[in-house]
Amino acid sequence: MTLTRSVVLVGVICGGVLPSAVPAQELGPNVRKVKDGIYVQSAREVNSTVGIVLTREGVVLVDTGQTPADWREVEAAVRKLTPLPVRYLINTEVHPDHTAGNFVFSPPAVVINHWGAADAMRKADNPARYANASPEIRAAAEGYRLMTPHVEYHDKLTLHVGERTFELLRLRNVHSEADTAVWLPSERVLFAASVAIPNSLNNIRPFVALADMLAAIRMMRALGPEVVVPGHGSFGTTGMFDENERYFGLLIERVGAMVRQGRTLDQIQKELRMPEYRHWAYQERMPTNIDAAYRAVTQK
Ligand SMILES: [Zn+2]
Repeated sequence: MTLTRSVVLVGVICGGVLPSAVPAQELGPNVRKVKDGIYVQSAREVNSTVGIVLTREGVVLVDTGQTPADWREVEAAVRKLTPLPVRYLINTEVHPDHTAGNFVFSPPAVVINHWGAADAMRKADNPARYANASPEIRAAAEGYRLMTPHVEYHDKLTLHVGERTFELLRLRNVHSEADTAVWLPSERVLFAASVAIPNSLNNIRPFVALADMLAAIRMMRALGPEVVVPGHGSFGTTGMFDENERYFGLLIERVGAMVRQGRTLDQIQKELRMPEYRHWAYQERMPTNIDAAYRAVTQK
């Protein structure tokens, strides 16, 4: 990074924070301002989100973006926003659509996620991930290598960077092998990971329990956030928690009724309809949702 004398001077005069210096529309087509010094990048409604948080001691990122093109848009936006380095990079889960760009920012960024993240990422890594991608994506992914967290915390971690406080909260058993919500209590902004995705079915893996997803949704809503940034989709309010809770409630109710009628899991997956949510993205994930509801209603 090269710093001009004038940029350094402006940084010193303003205490290092330049939150309003660059209008959001100049940061890239997919970057939106959430609050002063807090931005979100996401190229399409269903894509993963990236949080860019400026502090007077440097930048804290939350995830790295859906594709290599997103990593590069985030990298360019950070450079426009501040001459300060990315100090910390928090992963909200282990999957590559949130973490594969870690190497772009680290070093120098210290990568953080819950215990178990590095092990899960190593097991799922594919060094040839972008080998068959388009020339543009291959170019953006130049230098790709797995970068696992340097810091793995248990249950909760509080991070103080400059004038901001970040509370990292473990979300147990809700999406991947290690899921983290990031709560900024002073700003009342919550990065909510991939538990409640607005207007989209989630891919619910066999080790995930609906009861744990619902517990995480309720815990995050109880924090009282003003702005909720989901792991995928547009940022908004806790309304996305209410909507997902209603959906899961209805799903459990309908699967439970069919179980009581003697239907097998296979039959329920073929017969059950959720017409109220037909407009949600990723309808092909419905069997995984029904499987999770079936486990919830049949467990002892
Ligand atoms: Zn994921």
